[in-house]
Amino acid sequence: MDTIRFVGTGGGRMATTTQLRKTAGLYLELQGVRIYLDPGPGALVYARAEKLPLEKLDCVIVSHAHIDHINDAQVLIEAMTHGAREKRGIFVGTKSVMKQITDYHKDAPNSVLIVKAGDKFKIGDLNVIATKTIHTDAYGVGFKFFASKKISYVGDTIYSKEISKAHASADILILNCLYLVNENKGKNIEFAKHMDLDDAIKFVLDIKPKLCILQHFGMGMILKKPWEKAILVEEKTGVKTVAARDGQIFDVSGAVTVKKSGLGRFV
Ligand SMILES: [Zn+2]
Repeated sequence: MDTIRFVGTGGGRMATTTQLRKTAGLYLELQGVRIYLDPGPGALVYARAEKLPLEKLDCVIVSHAHIDHINDAQVLIEAMTHGAREKRGIFVGTKSVMKQITDYHKDAPNSVLIVKAGDKFKIGDLNVIATKTIHTDAYGVGFKFFASKKISYVGDTIYSKEISKAHASADILILNCLYLVNENKGKNIEFAKHMDLDDAIKFVLDIKPKLCILQHFGMGMILKKPWEKAILVEEKTGVKTVAARDGQIFDVSGAVTVKKSGLGRFV
C-alpha cells in the first residue's frame, strides 16, 4: 500500500514559531520504502506521538536548507540509524542542506546523496527525480516519486512553466502553498519566492493531476480557511483539490482514499 501522511502542514516563519499548524513535514510509504520528507521543527515529537516507525525509516530527504524543512533532519537520521550505531538508510539533500548537517550525521547512514535539479536516483525499488525550484535557497529542489502513482512534491517555489513541465503527468500533485497572495512576487527580496494560490492554480492548470493536495501553509493561509481555498482551486481548474490537515493520511495505491482525516485544530 502506498500512503502519504501529512504529519504537519505548516510552513513559514510564523507557523513555525507558533505551531498553529505543525511544521513536521511528510511521511511516505511508497513501494515498501519508508521516507521522511522535509522534517521541520516538531517532526520527531509529532511522528512519535503518531507512533511512526522511525527506526524502520529507509530514507530522510530534505528539499532545501530552510529551518521549516531541515530542523529535525539530524535527529531523524539518529532514529533511522538507531542512535548512529547501525549503518542503515539513505540521507538525501542538496548542497545547501549538507552544509548544515554535521559530519557525524553524514557518517551515520549507509549512504548520503547530494542532489540537484534533474538528478535521478533510487531508494530501494523506488525511482525518484529531483526537480528545479525557484526559491531563496538556490540549491533547493522538488521531487517526483514514481510509485504506484506518480507523486510530485513541487517544493518551495514560485510558478514557472519549466517547473510545470518537470511535473507533467503527475497523478498526485503536492503544492507548498505558503501564501494566499504573495504581494512581493517578482521582487528580489527574501520572502518573494514562495507559492501563493494564484501560482498553485497555474501549476494545476498546466499539470492537470488526478488530485492536488495543498499544504505547507503560512499564517496568511492558515487564518483564511485553506479548505475553502482548495474548493476555489477545484472550481477554477476542474481538478479535485484538498487542503491537507495535520495528521491526514492518503492511500494512493488505487483510487485515492483518505485513510485518516487528520486531527488538526483547523479541519
Ligand atoms: Zn524555503
